[in-house]
Amino acid sequence: MTLEFTNKTAIVTGASRGIGRAIAMEFARNGANVVCVATTEENAQKAADACAAEGGGGKIVAIGCDVSDSAAVNRVVELTIEKCGSVDILVNNAGITRDNVIPRLQDEDFDRVIEVNLRGSFLFIRAVTRPMMKARRGRIINITSIVGVTGNAGQSNYAASKAGLIGLTKSVAKELASRNITSNAVAPGFIETDMTASVREKAADAMKQAIPLGRIGRPEEIAHAVAFLASDRASYITGQVLVVDGGLAGA
Ligand code: NAP
Repeated sequence: MTLEFTNKTAIVTGASRGIGRAIAMEFARNGANVVCVATTEENAQKAADACAAEGGGGKIVAIGCDVSDSAAVNRVVELTIEKCGSVDILVNNAGITRDNVIPRLQDEDFDRVIEVNLRGSFLFIRAVTRPMMKARRGRIINITSIVGVTGNAGQSNYAASKAGLIGLTKSVAKELASRNITSNAVAPGFIETDMTASVREKAADAMKQAIPLGRIGRPEEIAHAVAFLASDRASYITGQVLVVDGGLAGA
């Protein structure tokens, strides 16, 4: 049986948990070869096992890699081509927060968030560019955040990294369009994952009230938007930011 992503290979960073895991499983279910990346091979393997259980029939690979490490990122892309034959889809999803108000925000917390969220995405984009250019096709999808558009008190490092990612997305779109490579971003609002666990504990009701659809989003709802942008149905969409937030940013 041919599924939507049969014979396509997707690299998904931050695949071990939350949104990345849902994205990796969505691709696996729809027949893709999926390369699951997390900080350790053990974490990546958990995602790979969940992907294999989806039964889509594609190859599933687990790789431990710090996305801010240039050599390690290049190695992931080399291994992907070695094991799966191509790289058709890149989802830059790995991300961290190190929140604090500006007077208390340490240099290392500013730098680390930029390194993982922004530099990590750049490193992966650079690494996949050559094989995608050669193949004259590719889909790059970067997971930004609505706070990259709106800003957020106490998250200046994180919001700066996510705003930077939008600039990166749009520049890559312009640079690689002639090679039939699209570059888009998905901007989630407030999604139920480990990243939002402490805020949900303290302020779930207030959050729900602020969201026009009246509930916190599910990781699968981000995965559906990513799958659409990776699919043939999105062949004429590039340089865009698709907001998936239950109406929060526009409220
Ligand atoms: P999460 O549950 O905290 O998971 C983060 C993922 O990133 C994990 O798989 C983690 O791997 C991986 N990761 C972290 N640092 C890494 C590094 N240096 N190298 C490789 N992998 C690394 O996060 P999430 O909520 O699913 O968020 C996923 C993305 O969506 C992030 O970019 C986040 O900024 C964005 N986002 C989330 C929300 C939300 O409400 N949750 C809203 C807007 C945007 P390990 O398991 O190995 O640590």
